[in-house]
Amino acid sequence: MRRTLFGLLAICVMSALGFAQAAKPADVTVIRAGWLIDGNANTAKKDQVVVVRGNHIESVQDAAGFKAPDGAKVIDLSRATVLPGLIDTHTHIFLQDEDPAHGGYDAYLLKYPLSYRAARAAVSARQGLEQGFTSIRDLETEGAGYGDIGIKMAINEGYIPGPRIFAATRAISTTGGYPLEGYAPEITLPRGAQIVDGPVEARKAAREQLEHGADLIKVYMTHRSWVDRDGNLVSQPTLTVEELRAIVDEAHGWRKKVACHAYNGIGLQRALDGGCDSIEHGLELTDANVAQMVKQGTWYVPTIMPYFYWWDAADTAAGQRDRKRAEVHGHSFTRAYKAGVKIAFGTDAGSFPWTDSIAHEFSYYVEYGMSPMEAIKTATSRAAELLDMQGQLGVVAPGAFADIVAVEGDPLKDVKVMEKVKFVMKDGKVFRNEVK
Ligand SMILES: [Zn+2]
Repeated sequence: MRRTLFGLLAICVMSALGFAQAAKPADVTVIRAGWLIDGNANTAKKDQVVVVRGNHIESVQDAAGFKAPDGAKVIDLSRATVLPGLIDTHTHIFLQDEDPAHGGYDAYLLKYPLSYRAARAAVSARQGLEQGFTSIRDLETEGAGYGDIGIKMAINEGYIPGPRIFAATRAISTTGGYPLEGYAPEITLPRGAQIVDGPVEARKAAREQLEHGADLIKVYMTHRSWVDRDGNLVSQPTLTVEELRAIVDEAHGWRKKVACHAYNGIGLQRALDGGCDSIEHGLELTDANVAQMVKQGTWYVPTIMPYFYWWDAADTAAGQRDRKRAEVHGHSFTRAYKAGVKIAFGTDAGSFPWTDSIAHEFSYYVEYGMSPMEAIKTATSRAAELLDMQGQLGVVAPGAFADIVAVEGDPLKDVKVMEKVKFVMKDGKVFRNEVK
């Protein structure tokens, strides 16, 4: 009896230590890379070999003289450029676009059952992965509660394909600070974010969201925006500094970050004074804003693409606002970049269709002053830093998760090449391979 127990125990201990798995050569994959952009180095390396064991990268070395271990699976990407899996730090899998022709934003909350929204979120997540985005920081569910936590669970447990999700859950704004709006005051409407007024409610909302699994807290520091009679962009501030400080204090206690949607002006200033970890969108940054961001180490997640979608007619107030937002965003990007603000790649994917190219955002970064290599780093090693995953994500290096993509052509010559990812490996498993 005792011997049997001991035997069982030994088997358990051995499998827990991974002996059984480690002995299987099938767990080793060798990727031959024609060129490697590893996420850290400033230049691409020619003819490299990446050895993947299980879901981690074991080694990266010159192909010359390399001999693949017996039984290893070899993936030949010797005519492609291999990169770390891409990271979009501002997405919404619970949105599929806000085109008025499709019902606009309000239809999501008024017409669609949550099961329908979850099914579509699962498709959006897969579409992100197909494009090479192996991690996303999903910045709130737009009225779908904690749905992002459920999608993340289903992905992590292998039921559906999708990126690693860093979930913000419900987001926080104030009364008068988030849709649905514009209906009769007698009607009680659902809201796209959790509404709070006062520091006590603000802290409570953060606690609730953290309790239910939020990886970070998303806060709206500005809401409506318009162009005033002098032609300046104005945005309506929402939370006070005191309300924001309660949220930041709570989140930081949990070692979580606070991402702040802020366009410009008073709300953006409050976001910086209240200690936000990242400014989302940041359409219009003054020199003083930029200096404060550098001093405080605040991240900037510009999302340039969506502001070029669906402009209203030029002779309308909304049309003037749309044009102004796009115009000031580029200047702010250049100003922040030149001053050394930490920039992470974000797109607001979901506000435009997930079938459109997420990587199109790279072209704007290059247009506004970055080199293609720097632009790629915003979606790899820099984004991983924002996620507190440096060394584990966003790099092709020993010890990192085996999240690897490849493109045909040279993205350092033409960053648009990033819009056609042909190979995607996530967590050591090949999701897609169309490299010829
Ligand atoms: Zn957003």
